[in-house]
Amino acid sequence: MDQAPPRTMTASEGANWFFRGAATRLDLSDDLVTLLSAPYRELHVQIPVRMDNGELRVFTGFRVQHNGARGPYKGGIRFHPEANLDEVRALASLMTWKTAIVDIPFGGAKGGVQVDPRALSVGELQRLTRTYVENISHIIGVYRDIPAPDMGTDARTMGWMMDAYGKMHGHSPAIVTGKPIPMGGSRGRTEATGKGVAIVLGDTLQNLGRSRLATRVAIQGFGNVGSHAADAIAELGCRIVAVSDVAGGVRNPDGLDVPALREHFARTGRLEGFPGATSMSSEDVLYEDCDVLIPAALGEVIHADNWERVQAPLIIEAANHPVTAYADHQLAQRGVMVVPDILANAGGVLVSYFEWTQNIQQHRWTASRVETELEELLSSSYAEICARAAEGLPLRSAAFDVGVSRVVEAVEIRGIASSGVESLAA
Ligand code: NAD
Repeated sequence: MDQAPPRTMTASEGANWFFRGAATRLDLSDDLVTLLSAPYRELHVQIPVRMDNGELRVFTGFRVQHNGARGPYKGGIRFHPEANLDEVRALASLMTWKTAIVDIPFGGAKGGVQVDPRALSVGELQRLTRTYVENISHIIGVYRDIPAPDMGTDARTMGWMMDAYGKMHGHSPAIVTGKPIPMGGSRGRTEATGKGVAIVLGDTLQNLGRSRLATRVAIQGFGNVGSHAADAIAELGCRIVAVSDVAGGVRNPDGLDVPALREHFARTGRLEGFPGATSMSSEDVLYEDCDVLIPAALGEVIHADNWERVQAPLIIEAANHPVTAYADHQLAQRGVMVVPDILANAGGVLVSYFEWTQNIQQHRWTASRVETELEELLSSSYAEICARAAEGLPLRSAAFDVGVSRVVEAVEIRGIASSGVESLAA
């Protein structure tokens, strides 16, 4: 869409802006635009938790199912103090387009609980997780809606969720993905999103004819996605020149030794103090002098008031929705290339799909099979998007076109609504 978006929008308005651009390019009917602009179902639950000190605290949780035309709803659960319904709604819709882009048989969903998981004891966190699952259990299911980890949740959380669901419905490992490996988790799932970011970066550098060795990368976030992306990108041969997390960051223009940084972080719990590196703020990594910027933490970190400070000519969106629609438009005008979240972080949902199929078949794949299939599916999805972008579109618009067109095709086949538009992505 050529028209500039408003400077500020809510997260769901921002996600819808991109969808509406695709709807215009694909000439979708008004019925379809109405159907796909809003989620199918939103559940808002109370989560009462008896704290260790005897007090009862009531947390708030959500599960939003955006569209299930292509298969069971799929999407992560976020534990974050600022999780809110509007953001969860936006993230659920992005999952619909993401699963369609990588052509796996899922719809899109997202969940969130307003909690700082680091402020709870392990027992409190487990009770909260179990109660959340009990309270959303009537809308999830192995062929209905399959949660996964996101910010603030991990394999341990998924193990508790599987157990809580199994107590109600019988042993059901396929109810969540991202589980611990002994409980049916897939090899390679923990690393998958970060590894996928590196695959997408490698493909982008190849398309641009750029040397990996000459590429300087800055990463915001050193959690699941950021730390595994750093590992895999260092293995590609690129130089990681800056990394930050919520507490602060470190920079070294000559390159950070990522395995040593990981070891330092595991030992001290902080990035700062890493030998040979200088300290920086969490935010300053976004403005680092580098060739590639990878936001891998929160959403909407690049926005109307700071996009001008971004120096990188290439942004790979490892986090969900890290660049607002307004900033995206301005960056595009300046010639900055943005590889969108709905492709760049799709490695996680791809390996989640592999995990779900392994659970259903009661069969385990080797790590190398997971890695090979991840590379093949992600790279071929990227190539499809590049082919669409070659018609003169930014990568995000091309990705939305491919994803939306596949969802529309499924909606039409099911007889829910009609667009009269031929699928782009047959
Ligand atoms: P995580 O909880 O493991 O890590 C989050 C990281 O962000 C931590 O290092 C934290 O310190 C950092 N952070 C938080 N606030 C920050 C701030 N203000 N400034 C700088 N850093 C900050 O979460 P994750 O699973 O790595 O998810 C990160 C992003 O990737 C999220 O946007 C998530 O939606 C997205 N994502 C995750 C997956 C997955 O498989 N985990 C898949 C797709 C997308």
